[in-house]
Amino acid sequence: MKKTTCLHPKWIIPIEPHASVLSDASLVMEDAVIVGIMPSAAARQQYANAEHIDLPTHALLPGFVNLHAHSAMCLLRGLADDLALMEWLHEHIWPAEKKHVSEQFVFDGSLHAMAEMIRGGTTTVNDMYFFHHAVARAGVQSGMRTVVGCSVLEFPNAYCQDADDYLQKAQDVIRDFAGQQGVAFKLAPHAPYTVSDASFKKIIALAQQLSVGIHCHIHESVDELATSMKEYGVRPLARLDQLGLLSPQLIAAHVVHADDAEIALLQQRGVHVAHNPASNLKLASGMARIHSMQMAGINVGLGTDGSASNNKLDMLADMRLAALLAKTQSDEPTALNAAQALEMATLSGAKALGLDREIGSLVAGKYADIIAIDLSALETTPVYDPISQIVYAAGREQVSDVWVHGRCLMRGRQLLTLDSGALMETALAWQAKIAA
Ligand SMILES: [Zn+2]
Repeated sequence: MKKTTCLHPKWIIPIEPHASVLSDASLVMEDAVIVGIMPSAAARQQYANAEHIDLPTHALLPGFVNLHAHSAMCLLRGLADDLALMEWLHEHIWPAEKKHVSEQFVFDGSLHAMAEMIRGGTTTVNDMYFFHHAVARAGVQSGMRTVVGCSVLEFPNAYCQDADDYLQKAQDVIRDFAGQQGVAFKLAPHAPYTVSDASFKKIIALAQQLSVGIHCHIHESVDELATSMKEYGVRPLARLDQLGLLSPQLIAAHVVHADDAEIALLQQRGVHVAHNPASNLKLASGMARIHSMQMAGINVGLGTDGSASNNKLDMLADMRLAALLAKTQSDEPTALNAAQALEMATLSGAKALGLDREIGSLVAGKYADIIAIDLSALETTPVYDPISQIVYAAGREQVSDVWVHGRCLMRGRQLLTLDSGALMETALAWQAKIAA
């Protein structure tokens, strides 16, 4: 027997059609799938025996797709701040990871991050880290839609000896979780400066063989560009294009530095970009040319990056920041308007993941990955335009309810799959260990 649920919010923002806002409308879902959106009176009559949930001051919209994160790093949040990318990585993050990162660390950290993300309205995460089984297990336990990025680097750490070892472990986890609902995989070469040509070639071949996409940091800092010029005589994008990496199967994280020709190249190859405005600002990596990319027709989604470089897994905050930055960076106040920013945080991320037929908008037939945001707070009253209010004024504490695949993960701010008290105790135990 199928379970039917009717949600009756004040507004529905379906994302498709673009910028539309519906009133006096209800969303009907049956098990995991959205049946449709219809006038509220009709829904109450036609589905009289369904479960009815009233959300009288809320906007209903698709959950956010966090297109670039290193979830488990939330256990390292605040460990090293106010540094440039290379110093931050080499002198702080990589040594701490070498010493502490384990299967248990990644499971605990991922679960903690997922609780934070669910509380902020994120329903899908595109992760990139180590101990892939632990990330996948956390995804299953939290109920969050999880794309596990199987990292590849040349140098050894607690997880792997070398690039081949990483690739073997990627194949193992993809085999072990085959058919697991809500868990998908990508191969995730860390960056052009940590992965050799030979490994990139193997990654491209394996991704094709396994029918998975690729997720890689690209053109994040000027340092990365200088290193590439010195070692390869070309910028990373030119090198990666020669290797055949640039394609619609690639999500390029950051792309802070791209000239006009490189933007045209990304568009021609159909590469998706994961924009991480807060992390780029905090590490002083720069301001990505998002307006130019969008004008060129590149699909750009939004990510938080890891919480050691943000330091919040807060898609609402990053959506606002993305909109503000796009205007100043392009000297164009109409750039990345509120509706475009909201689409970037939802449907564009789904498209980058190849999941736009399944999630990313509230359309009949798609999975019910849905959030409700309560706009009745003083800070978001009055409401002339709910899209504007969500992008420019709402805080993540206003996210009240979250469903993924039709399953309710948070109701009235209460997490239903995770225990926040237990997560905090575990995080404090890790702090005691790491600080010592
Ligand atoms: Zn990153």
